[in-house]
Amino acid sequence: GTLSVAAILAETARRHPDRVAFHVGDAALTYGPLWDRTRAYAGALRARGVGPGDRVAMLVPNVPDFARVYYAVLSLGAVVVPVHLLFKAQEIEYVLGDSDATLLVAAAPMLGEALPAAAAAGVPVVTVLVPDAHVAAVPAPRLEDEADAADPVRTYASVNPLAPATVLYTSGTTGRPKGAVASHLALVEQVHVTLLDTADIRPDDVVFGGLPFFHTFGQSAVLNTAFRRGAAIVLLPRFDADEALALLVKHRATVFTAVPTMFLGMVQAAARTTDRPPLKYAVSGGAALPVALLEAFAREFGAEVHEGYGLTETAPTVSFNYVGEPIRPGTVGRPLWGVDVEIADSEVEGRIELLGPGELGEVVVRGHNLFKGYLGNPEATAAAVVDGWFRTGDLGTVDAEGIVTIVDRKKDMIVRNGYNVYPSEVEDAMVRHPAVAQAAVFGVEDEAHGQEVHAAVVLMPGRTATAQEIVDFTRERIAAYKYPRVVHLVETLPLGGSGKVLKRELVAQYSTPAG
Ligand code: ATP
Repeated sequence: GTLSVAAILAETARRHPDRVAFHVGDAALTYGPLWDRTRAYAGALRARGVGPGDRVAMLVPNVPDFARVYYAVLSLGAVVVPVHLLFKAQEIEYVLGDSDATLLVAAAPMLGEALPAAAAAGVPVVTVLVPDAHVAAVPAPRLEDEADAADPVRTYASVNPLAPATVLYTSGTTGRPKGAVASHLALVEQVHVTLLDTADIRPDDVVFGGLPFFHTFGQSAVLNTAFRRGAAIVLLPRFDADEALALLVKHRATVFTAVPTMFLGMVQAAARTTDRPPLKYAVSGGAALPVALLEAFAREFGAEVHEGYGLTETAPTVSFNYVGEPIRPGTVGRPLWGVDVEIADSEVEGRIELLGPGELGEVVVRGHNLFKGYLGNPEATAAAVVDGWFRTGDLGTVDAEGIVTIVDRKKDMIVRNGYNVYPSEVEDAMVRHPAVAQAAVFGVEDEAHGQEVHAAVVLMPGRTATAQEIVDFTRERIAAYKYPRVVHLVETLPLGGSGKVLKRELVAQYSTPAG
């Protein structure tokens, strides 16, 4: 048999050509015209020589052209390499070289970084999203023009379900970014299992589209899932909480899917207006959602938050608090259908030694959602996939009922005086302080204790608290070896492009050079 991720758009366009795919500002774009233009883009790419298996990199924000380019590349049986929008020229060059890309499709605002990167990598560039005023001056050929001249493809190419569909680069916390290869099967199965079991998305739903599509969470859980069902997506190319709330109200959004920092922004924005969208429910993933924040969002928006857990390497969802079942705050719910989640001894290298219910160890995963490996990096793949199990690098538990709880990332665990401190547990306690909006806990090398527990804290707008008050508050709520000894009050936390706190930057900032 054959299978293609491109069918997600093509089949919905065939059945529901007049349904809205995207709300962009005041405009609504329907599925029929979106797929027609996608076929023209594919024709243009084919005319450039793009064919099955070729890697096409793209640097495009959350605008309709993301979908056109993404499904156009896939419809040719070629492989999409969505590049992180915050990457600078050197990082883009690395991705182009590592993925052996034959073409880079870059949105005009990204050309400043994209052109030098592509020149250095020897990869041609074609551009989209050129503002009308700049058409004459844009320093790269326009895909729009080429699409006007090209023969559109008739439909999507049939490919082997296990053929690569996307290469998504991990952000590279440990060394160079690695390209995780996902098959058509993994991406399509992810959507089907989500729609059948864990989510409740119907054709008349309106889904929040503020998660970046270049990242696995926005791509699978929002773009592919909503499109498979023929639901509408409200696009927001750059997340701003007040703007997001206003758009959700205007388009009567029913599903809010986001990372925890976006949930916090929405709760704060809700204090500035009484307008609310008619949300059915919300989905959180990508990082731990503090229970206090889950409760605050549910209170403000009258919608329950279903937390899930996933990674780039697992397309991404591993487990979820299923919609339609009671949520278990503080857990990431049950494994997806067809996905095994177990806990392995995290100290054992080179093989997998499974632990029992409730025991703490490394989360390992097996199933249809697993990546095919890291592109061109068999050593990294062999280190990550052992005996058929993917080692997630996360510490957690699975209880007797199969409910998964993530404790923290292995590499973020702090060892103070020989005791293990899990930052997310400490953060959960800290954000219960009424003046604390966000807390990020991290370990700093320390002569006396091995590592010392530090926290960077952002206060609620209009509230005050001293660092000492926050230390004292936390000390009353968790064991003596865990509470943060040093609290840094900061204006903002360093965030990655997908909205996650970059702990490594905090560690670097607050580590004093030895001596
Ligand atoms: P990189 O691996 O490149 O450093 P990253 O780890 O953020 O970046 P992603 O694939 O985006 O890469 O994120 C996967 C990680 O996000 C998981 O390994 C886990 O640590 C974290 N995560 C995702 N969902 C949750 C959740 N619900 N609770 C706690 N952590 C989560």
